[in-house]
Amino acid sequence: MSIKYINNELFVENISVSKLADKYGTPIYIYSRKILESNFNSYKKGFSDINSIICYAAKANSNQNIMRLLAKLGSGADIVSGGELYRSLLAGIKPNRIVYSGVGKTVEEIKYALKSDILMFNVESFEELQQINIIAKKLHKKARISFRVNPDVDPHTHKHITTGKHGSKFGIMYEDALELYITASKMSNIEIVGIDSHIGSQILEVIPYKLAAVKLSKLIDNLEKAKIFIKYIDIGGGLGVKYQKTDRPPTPEDLKKEVMSVYSKYKDKTIIVEPGRSIVANAGIMVGKILYRKITGNKKFIIVDIGMNDLIRPTLYDAYHNIIPVKKTTKKPTIVDIVGPICETGDFLAKDRRFPMLLQGELIAVECIGAYGSAMASQYNSRLRAQGIVVDGNKVTGIRKREELKDLIAKEI
Ligand SMILES: *Cc1c(COP(=O)(O)O)cnc(C)c1O
Repeated sequence: MSIKYINNELFVENISVSKLADKYGTPIYIYSRKILESNFNSYKKGFSDINSIICYAAKANSNQNIMRLLAKLGSGADIVSGGELYRSLLAGIKPNRIVYSGVGKTVEEIKYALKSDILMFNVESFEELQQINIIAKKLHKKARISFRVNPDVDPHTHKHITTGKHGSKFGIMYEDALELYITASKMSNIEIVGIDSHIGSQILEVIPYKLAAVKLSKLIDNLEKAKIFIKYIDIGGGLGVKYQKTDRPPTPEDLKKEVMSVYSKYKDKTIIVEPGRSIVANAGIMVGKILYRKITGNKKFIIVDIGMNDLIRPTLYDAYHNIIPVKKTTKKPTIVDIVGPICETGDFLAKDRRFPMLLQGELIAVECIGAYGSAMASQYNSRLRAQGIVVDGNKVTGIRKREELKDLIAKEI
């Protein structure tokens, strides 16, 4: 692919990572345009033989350079806040390709979305439905909605990224759905257009999607009996990526085949898919520098300039990220903890990892950080949020600048 060693030096497309680190500093997020494009295109191709809209889940990485690129390739957006609506529109994503999910949409956000004329709200509660109806009435608009239905299936992923099981805060209960649809159908400023389910993230098998589809399909048939006809079936996102050598993520085409084994009978409906991670994760690496090394008792530590404020996934989700030296080494690997500078025990990138004891000042690259990396960055410990760049062939085409000290207190009065 486009992130690989050439003569023992790590490259992103045609530029050496050491050169990029020299020029832009560390820690730094580096993205490959080619990989982004190829990931998006594999969705486009996988879903090309059916009516479909690919709505990139902006929360995975809402950097404007990345979203603009996806907009150009024809992406829609799945958003979960007014901020993401702002970023999506600014990136050039068409409002009629934007769906709005999330359990806590505020009045301001609902107004903003209605005025922007987005495709639909994925409604997650009865009170939210009422709120949208009231606001739409005030604005003399009809709000297009679907319900996010919780199909109670287990996607076999980490508990913090499981969303479609009983007891999750997301969606409405499957058993309540028909009644809620009927209620919504009587509301003056609501137009029912779809049905939606998103069952979780980093899902490495397609069977849970089919189980969800079977349940939703029964519901769609019952809706039709009640004279409620929908146009869109939103199958959510969540397809996994290869963090570990043993991970075998399904392709977008596998996903389509699995859900269409249930949904192909609905010839008049459009399938919406909301991939986030599988579009951006493997397009990005984070490069950091070794600050210090130390041995305490029987433990060896490599301390780098990447903190949990830059990449929180290891501590938040027990996530595994492969880490490689930027310059290949002949040093033998040993067992080390690779940790950041933040004053928290949870500030680590890897524990008990086989990795060579590189020298102070040498560079490491953390792989597969394009999704939920920079998007979850914070200023914790008053650290400056890192810069990010997009590499396209021989060029750097997009930059998010590193924050400066004054940014830390810019809003403090
Ligand atoms: C997070 C999210 C997604 C994207 O999930 P990925 O695992 O990144 O593909 C899609 N839809 C909704 C509603 C989400 O909350």
